[in-house]
Amino acid sequence: MRIGIDLGGTKIEGVLLSALGETVTKRRVETPAGNYDATVAAVVDVISTLQAELPMPTTVGIGTPGALMHPEGIMKNCNSLCLNGQPLQRDLESRLGYAVRIENDANCFALSEAHFGAAKDASTVFGVILGTGTGGGIVINKQLLTGPNQIAGEWGHNPIPVSVRPLIDKDRICYCGRANCIETVLSGRGLKQTYHEQSGQTLEANAIAELARTGDPGAKECIEIYSQQLARCLASVINVIDPETIVLGGGLSNIDRLYETVPHSLEGFVFTEGVRTQLLRPTFGDASGAIGAACLWPAI
Ligand SMILES: [Zn+2]
Repeated sequence: MRIGIDLGGTKIEGVLLSALGETVTKRRVETPAGNYDATVAAVVDVISTLQAELPMPTTVGIGTPGALMHPEGIMKNCNSLCLNGQPLQRDLESRLGYAVRIENDANCFALSEAHFGAAKDASTVFGVILGTGTGGGIVINKQLLTGPNQIAGEWGHNPIPVSVRPLIDKDRICYCGRANCIETVLSGRGLKQTYHEQSGQTLEANAIAELARTGDPGAKECIEIYSQQLARCLASVINVIDPETIVLGGGLSNIDRLYETVPHSLEGFVFTEGVRTQLLRPTFGDASGAIGAACLWPAI
């Protein structure tokens, strides 16, 4: 048994995960938004409730949208802003009396799918988040790839490949201050902007996807363009890490058409003929954060 916690902006979800990846118990509470001390207390409470079901304490992993900076030990890039600059890991460990592990939610997504989900049979996995933002995580032989900057797999703020530039009308400025980051094209907002460039209309990403499903020619064309953009951005990742499997996650991973068009569109952009990388739907959806967080520790 392992405990995994998904610490999000609106909810804290905790699971007790069996060695086979089954969720034995689940506990969910609202995040005390904007209140750091109350958030720490709520996380400790969820963990304690789950630990109480076990004969002895087990390991605890925590996934959050931000990252833990080393060696300072403080959080950065959290959308729950009250966490930023705080020593979350130290504060939890001092309250609990044992070590916890913290990783960002894209890494937890990749871990969940590599251990128990769509990519459980693959040795090299690139987990991609296509949602409000564009992120990713790399898992090799069930181990998360981590590095000194805590950014392995974070391709969303790489510039788009040159081959994607003709697929957008004009340069797109990213919130990070750079121009034409992959996230400006592949996030929900990116799809929305592409649709606006094509049609002059403003629609949210899920509405565009729904319209395309019902056969609307403009929306279908927009999803085709998005598929091309995604394939060309993924091709550069495949050239570097050559993953057996790429699993898509986040809201845009629900667009069925991507799994048909993107694999074909990789040809000509990956430095090989007959690309063997699989592109798969996620297994877990919203539950991936807590399940992946539990996988931050080996099963005991
Ligand atoms: Zn950026």
